[in-house]
Amino acid sequence: MTASSSDIEKAAGVLRAGGLVALPTETVYGLGANAEDPVAVARIFQAKGRPPSHPLIVHIGGAEQLDDWVEDVPATARLLAAHFWPGPLTLVLRRGRRVPLEATGGLETVAVRVPDHPVAGALLAAFGGGVTAPSANRFGSVSPTTADDVRTELGDAVDFVLDGGPCEVGVESTIVDVTGDTPSVLRPGGVTREALEAVLGGPVAVPSTSRVRVPGQHPSHYAPRARVVLVEPGKVLDEVESARELGHQVGVFLPPSLAGTPVKAHATVAVPASPAAYARGLYGFLRELDQRGCDLIIASLPAEEGLGLAIANRLRRAAGPRSAQHA
Ligand code: AMP
Ligand code: MG
Repeated sequence: MTASSSDIEKAAGVLRAGGLVALPTETVYGLGANAEDPVAVARIFQAKGRPPSHPLIVHIGGAEQLDDWVEDVPATARLLAAHFWPGPLTLVLRRGRRVPLEATGGLETVAVRVPDHPVAGALLAAFGGGVTAPSANRFGSVSPTTADDVRTELGDAVDFVLDGGPCEVGVESTIVDVTGDTPSVLRPGGVTREALEAVLGGPVAVPSTSRVRVPGQHPSHYAPRARVVLVEPGKVLDEVESARELGHQVGVFLPPSLAGTPVKAHATVAVPASPAAYARGLYGFLRELDQRGCDLIIASLPAEEGLGLAIANRLRRAAGPRSAQHA
């Protein structure tokens, strides 16, 4: 069910009163507060169980509002905003005075984007200000892509949930730091590296990516309850078999190359061949295998091009080592 105009008005009122609103965007659902209200912003961290040093993204209604929120906008940022907003691209820029340090984790930079979703757009227009919002999940867990996921994750910790249906993109925005001499990708996401490079006319630096079974530099995030193990596509069936023999309730992400192959797993998800469909479904697949009682998920990484880069990044982090905090 999609939010009505009276839902939008109600949500804008909750934001004005310092409350928290979960809102649909094209990437994932966000947990929003009035970006200029430090007390409301602090409630986001409390609701998520997120350390206050982790900065949030400020969502604004249009590129024309950029200068209200940041200082010293470089030409590169204007170019990227003109091409990709509204859309799944977040720009890191110098913090404007309107943005409290609570929203930036104490940083002098701020992350800003214009979401491409009619419900988010209507809320931003009705509210009139900026809405700071991280993903609407408990810290470290799988991001929500439906209103039901938000309710499961946050329950009463959110004052109002706007339902905008399932998210189209399904993975978070691409975050690009444009404060330095050359733009650099801090997190791969819904806007591909190839699309950024086409607009910027040159190569863009992205975080280092390593092969499967990566060690410590990818602390667990975007993680289901079940442990996630990454293997080469050709080894999926063998790994499933040995995990099953060890007594695991095995969930498997069956790669497109093995489509239709019978697998003796507890639960199987057929990975879509299209990267856009895979990104859209990714978090739902992880939630589904949790709900079906799997304690181990075996998956392999897609080719790291286009949206495959963001999918691989999330799978690596889902498979990353867990601290007690993330567990
Ligand atoms: P989430 O959407 O929940 O993943 O949270 C927002 C993301 O934006 C986090 O990955 C933050 O680290 C990132 N972010 C927000 N502000 C900044 C900033 N000023 N500099 C770098 N990264 C940022
Ligand atoms: Mg998040």
